[in-house]
Amino acid sequence: MILLISDLHLEEERPDITRAFLGLLNGRARSAQALYILGDFFEAWIGDDAMTPFQRSICEALRELSDSGTQLFLMHGNRDFLIGKAFCKAAGVTLLKDPTVVQLHGEPVLLMHGDSLCTRDLGYMKLRRILRNPIVLFILRHLPLRTRHKLARKLRSESRAQTRMKANDIVDVTPEEVPRVMQQFGVRTLVHGHTHRPAIHKLQIGEQAAKRIVLGDWDKQGWALQVDEQGFQLAAFDFVNPQLALPGA
Ligand code: MN
Repeated sequence: MILLISDLHLEEERPDITRAFLGLLNGRARSAQALYILGDFFEAWIGDDAMTPFQRSICEALRELSDSGTQLFLMHGNRDFLIGKAFCKAAGVTLLKDPTVVQLHGEPVLLMHGDSLCTRDLGYMKLRRILRNPIVLFILRHLPLRTRHKLARKLRSESRAQTRMKANDIVDVTPEEVPRVMQQFGVRTLVHGHTHRPAIHKLQIGEQAAKRIVLGDWDKQGWALQVDEQGFQLAAFDFVNPQLALPGA
């Protein structure tokens, strides 16, 4: 059994989400072969050298799971793209490039965070290109801590203000972009997060049936995609009662 999650937006201010995640690590994830985290795992990350005690405790919890035999994979999101090698090594996780194709129960599946599919958001796409440039990343990682804190705050408040102003559809994926990348990578299944619109979309690529699975964000409830012999099951669960599958999920 394989588990995929994304958009937990872990932060100290949300102990309910943290508790639910640690519950998953000590529960279902123990019997999983692999756990994939597809970005925006942390609400903010300004560098591996600036880990808070809270972030360190999450790192240790991941390490424990990885030592117990579950393989851990992590992809950057738009909020935690500064997660680096030091964190991954300490946590026992393998960093995945966005996008990456993996075999899940024998099926090739394209994994993405999902922000790169939102091509109609021209301002964001431009910012993304700048922030993923290796030279810019190098400079960012070597800025003084105080400057990085300031920058992170500024980026967050700007992204909040913009999300409020934009039309509803602009922060969703561009419909034409989906079959294009799926064809490019030769897959019939795509899994991503980012949009906070959990769903399994059935689509047609040429003659073939395909699907796009969108993971849910953890805010009022948790979301996980479970892949096993029975296929792909996306379900929400209660933070307090993880065994409780929620209606409409
Ligand atoms: Mn995101």
